[in-house]
Amino acid sequence: MAIARAVEPISASDEEIRAALKDAFLPALLPALAQATGDLSLLRDDLRPSPRIALGVEQGGMTAEQQQAARELAFEVITAIRDGRAPSRTISIEEALMRATEWMTGTPAADDYLPLLLEELAPNDVDPRAPDWRKDPERPFFVAVIGAGMSGILAGIRLKQAGIPYVILEKNEDVGGTWFENTYPGARVDVSNAFYSYSFAQRVDWPHHYSSQEVLLDYFRSCAHEYGVVENVQFNTEVESVEWDEGRAMWQLHVRRKDGTRETIEANAVISAVGQLNRPQYPDIPGRDSFEGPAFHSARWDHSVDLTGKRVAVIGTGASAAQFVPVIAQKVGHLTIFQRTPNWFVPVPHYQDEVPAGLQWLFRHVPHYVHWYRFWLFWNTTEGLLPAASVDENWPHRDRSVSEANEQLRTLLAAYLQAQFADRPDLLEKVMPKYPPAAKRIILDNGVWAQTLKRDNVELLTDRIKEITPRGVVTADGKEREFDVIIYGTGFQASKFLTPMKVVGRNGIDLHQQWDGDARAYLGITVPNFPNFYLLYGPNTNIVVNGSIIYFSECEVQYIMGCLKMLLDNGYKAMDCKKEVHDAYNERIDKGNLQRVWGVANVNSWYKNEKGRVAQNWPFNLIEYWQQTREPNPADYHLV
Ligand code: NAP
Repeated sequence: MAIARAVEPISASDEEIRAALKDAFLPALLPALAQATGDLSLLRDDLRPSPRIALGVEQGGMTAEQQQAARELAFEVITAIRDGRAPSRTISIEEALMRATEWMTGTPAADDYLPLLLEELAPNDVDPRAPDWRKDPERPFFVAVIGAGMSGILAGIRLKQAGIPYVILEKNEDVGGTWFENTYPGARVDVSNAFYSYSFAQRVDWPHHYSSQEVLLDYFRSCAHEYGVVENVQFNTEVESVEWDEGRAMWQLHVRRKDGTRETIEANAVISAVGQLNRPQYPDIPGRDSFEGPAFHSARWDHSVDLTGKRVAVIGTGASAAQFVPVIAQKVGHLTIFQRTPNWFVPVPHYQDEVPAGLQWLFRHVPHYVHWYRFWLFWNTTEGLLPAASVDENWPHRDRSVSEANEQLRTLLAAYLQAQFADRPDLLEKVMPKYPPAAKRIILDNGVWAQTLKRDNVELLTDRIKEITPRGVVTADGKEREFDVIIYGTGFQASKFLTPMKVVGRNGIDLHQQWDGDARAYLGITVPNFPNFYLLYGPNTNIVVNGSIIYFSECEVQYIMGCLKMLLDNGYKAMDCKKEVHDAYNERIDKGNLQRVWGVANVNSWYKNEKGRVAQNWPFNLIEYWQQTREPNPADYHLV
């Protein structure tokens, strides 16, 4: 499916424009119109959104009167654009950004934010993050990228722009990574698409606020084709091992194709884009393999199994199960959900809704609107709920919350659960978490979780599972329940970065032995003893309550391109991260994570590895990662 990125000329009638404006998101519309016309006086003081946005507040806290006046003003400007009578003063994006930021947020963008915002808010025909240099064609240099998911495609786009020859080795038969593999019913993203998309490839026609798996896969496929990346991908090709040849300063990648053939590919640099949430985690429950019926993991959904009328067990209640359980509950005969730890849910009433027709029309017709909408989301998530996830050392009730702000969040989220389950105290008791919010991923909810648990054919069990038998599941009380199908929503081997791939660096050092179950990297990207080996979505680059993982990938790729430039410009063969730089960085990250609720809370989560260290999460705000990854500092590396 083609995706639309450019706005169309306006030919709608006055009535159609008024109807569309009913669906408008106003705090982003006026800045878009101000930029389109060059008339910054549209950003009137009396129409300012509220500077403090709380959960569930609509239209940026604008009052009903402000909304009405803003719609009227927007109507005047949009009809004027249509009729060719709007001013068209040209203003610089910097000027628009300064004024609009101040209008939207109540404070001018700090100087250090401005360059970041200019990158994030670039119009579709401008791509400030594209490398402004090209490799000397005479200099031989080849890069191998492992994985053609969201971040591998991005690496391919940038390598191509810099004229660097590369190959992407992809184990699947198509691009898309997690969005190719996770086809479970109800799969969709939980970050709004205006933000969960490449900064340089904004769509004006997202059908939903939070896209389904099919739509996202289509987006990533389209980008891979549009940017000419797909021709560099070798599909059905799994990298089994990677070895550094010190003498020649080359990596050797040993690959196995689906047809069983093997090959060795050589590259000067390797970019691993294999993701964190890639290899399914099956629970270590005795007898798991003895079950005689169909059993599968959410990330390996077996669509050949018809669940209609069946007795189905679901083990796990994380973000994946929270999405597929409400869908399958409508078709199975009986559903038993085995919950070990309940989730906190945040109310997002429009989570599964389509973008309303009027808003869709505005995105497609008002220049820059989609970008300002992204900016609004970005600005409000640069810190997101980070303050509410921060630990107050003196806070007394660590088992329920970690600070006053965290307690306030808890009160809000608990009230939501209480309202959802007011008529079912038995369920409320089971679903109310006993740990602080944001220690685990908070799930977006539009009420479907409660509706599902209250169904007559659904049972929520909190009993411990003792074993799995050929016919079903036995709980700690010795009771066996029989099932036709078992579905594991038990997550991923997230902390086992880069497994099962074998990576051998300098002096025969094995990456997994060096990590010893506790993966670390400098900036999440480079690891001492592994020269010219770069990680995307590596250790400590996941975010819990602020931002989009695509933002991180864009920062990482920018940094890696800087590393390649440094090698090429200076004729270096290799760069190897200094151990002391790597160690000092990780010390700071560890301290940061211990100041966040996910670092201190005593609850199961995929954020901690087998050593109990948070090896997944970035503990700081978004701008800090961007600042650190703008370009490499040669002093951080041994340069050969
Ligand atoms: P998950 O969050 O790790 O959840 C796994 C679930 O399985 C948990 O409820 C866990 O219980 C349970 N479990 C694991 N082992 C078990 C055992 N031996 N016995 C009983 N229960 C067991 O995995 P996920 O739901 O696949 O989500 C992983 C991450 O993927 C999310 O946090 C999110 O970042 C991403 N994701 C995003 C979306 C989205 O964008 N909407 C959707 C899906 C996934 P405990 O909590 O007690 O460990």
